[in-house]
Amino acid sequence: MAAAITAAAAGCRVTVLEHGERPCRKILATGNGRCNMTNRHMDPEQCYRGGTPGFASAVISQVTVDRTLNFFSGLGLPVKDRSGYIYPRSGQAASVADTLILEAERLGVRIRCKTHVTAVEQMEHGFRITADLTEKAEKEAFRSKFSGRKVILAAGGKAAPSSGSDGSGYELARSLGHRIIPPLPALVQLTCRGKLFRQLAGIRTEGTVSLYVDGLSAASDRGELQLTDYGISGIPVFQVSRFASVALSEGRRVEARIDFLPEFSDEETVLFLQKRRSLLGAREGRDFLTGVVPWKLGCTLMSQAGISLSDLSSMIPDRKLERLAEQLKRFPAEITGTRSFDQAQVCCGGAAVDQIDPSSMESLTVPGLYLTGELLDIDGICGGYNLQWAWSTGILAGQSAANILKKDGG
Ligand SMILES: Cc1cc2nc3c(=O)[nH]c(=O)nc-3n(C[C@H](O)[C@H](O)[C@H](O)COP(=O)(O)OP(=O)(O)OC[C@H]3O[C@@H](n4cnc5c(N)ncnc54)[C@H](O)[C@@H]3O)c2cc1C
Repeated sequence: MAAAITAAAAGCRVTVLEHGERPCRKILATGNGRCNMTNRHMDPEQCYRGGTPGFASAVISQVTVDRTLNFFSGLGLPVKDRSGYIYPRSGQAASVADTLILEAERLGVRIRCKTHVTAVEQMEHGFRITADLTEKAEKEAFRSKFSGRKVILAAGGKAAPSSGSDGSGYELARSLGHRIIPPLPALVQLTCRGKLFRQLAGIRTEGTVSLYVDGLSAASDRGELQLTDYGISGIPVFQVSRFASVALSEGRRVEARIDFLPEFSDEETVLFLQKRRSLLGAREGRDFLTGVVPWKLGCTLMSQAGISLSDLSSMIPDRKLERLAEQLKRFPAEITGTRSFDQAQVCCGGAAVDQIDPSSMESLTVPGLYLTGELLDIDGICGGYNLQWAWSTGILAGQSAANILKKDGG
């Protein structure tokens, strides 16, 4: 939609083909219904993964966060800034979707919904697009052809397919000669081995999750963790999940270590526990960590350290306090998998970016074809970066397609 608006504003005749009942459906689910549109803290090398080095920076440096905010401001969408995280002022993701649709309609963009694109073919002077038109009420589909001098493929990945992105964009790109890096769930929950997690389900606590692949440190992030019956979730888990996804797909061993006391060093943790033992020696073991971590977690960590829950805290020997410190600082979780595409917020993998010109988003293999957003082999971290990627690539593709059309006089 950002591409369509940009191209239409530059004077092009634009048609959007969307197989859902309306465009922008995924936006409605973003940011828990509030839509974290972008983020003022932008370092593309840190915030985007995948692709080739420098590709994301080359794109974001052309359509920056400021330029994106000007784009939305020009569409009449005020925003609010929460420590750099940008949301629509209304607090409603629907405002972002509605704003894009209203502007596209104002500019005369034809939005053809219930139109599932099945093929894009390059012709002598442009493209022929084949689509199934599905009238849900009548449960029948019939085929239609469209043509365009330029085509912008903005079909998303295959995360959260119920919101429209069913992965068909990859097949369209592949059919046009684009290499597809196998898509995998990213920004997703991780499943862990062992029955312990069933016991811990429902706990939310501050912590740092560190991921190790074949014993080597791969990624780490701090924030609110959620322990669930299948494993671990929460923003820090999402942030490291794509590394687990890729490593597991390569058959490598993945392990997470959780630090439930990230504000303390190892030595400080042992001292802290020793002081606590002196102060609270009359308490039973089950209450030794009360107030430090959620109670259920405290009992589990004590048991894992081999400390009786019914003995007095004063009886805990130094050796076991050290084991408890180890549990608090490096609680082990063997990662067996990720949750599915249905639960993932984005995909890693997608159309390889070495076949795309980052100054225009035009395909280097098929002139006149542009690829944008999550369809590409670039994934952003949590915090508004994936939508920023969609806005930046979309605006750039719309602008480039329009400039070329203008130069052609068409
Ligand atoms: C629950 C959830 C929360 C999220 N929260 C955030 C957030 O707060 N901030 C953030 O930055 N990112 C967030 N994301 C990620 C972000 O929404 C996506 O990365 C972004 O929407 C990708 O934009 P896109 O235009 O590339 O693809 P999409 O938004 O997926 O749009 C692709 C469109 O193409 C249509 N389509 C696909 N194939 C065809 C076809 N063959 N024919 C016709 N139409 C087709 C689809 O129906 C869809 O409308 C979230 C994602 C999810 C699932």
